[in-house]
Amino acid sequence: MDLKPMLIRVAILSHLMSLFSNVGRKFEKTKRTFIDDEAAEYACMSCENPVDEEYEYCPHCGKETVEPVE
Ligand SMILES: [Zn+2]
Repeated sequence: MDLKPMLIRVAILSHLMSLFSNVGRKFEKTKRTFIDDEAAEYACMSCENPVDEEYEYCPHCGKETVEPVE
């Protein structure tokens, strides 16, 4: 009995499985990024506008009051 074809099939299967789990991880990451985009992580304490980065100066009012939002 020749085991080779079976071994190849197992190898292909495990390769496919790892491909699928990679796609799953990528999707999770994309989902997290999307959720992060939904909520502003920083906001200006002076004008209370949300900003998408920790700016040194608020892009809305120009004050040094950008703080991370908890
Ligand atoms: Zn501001």
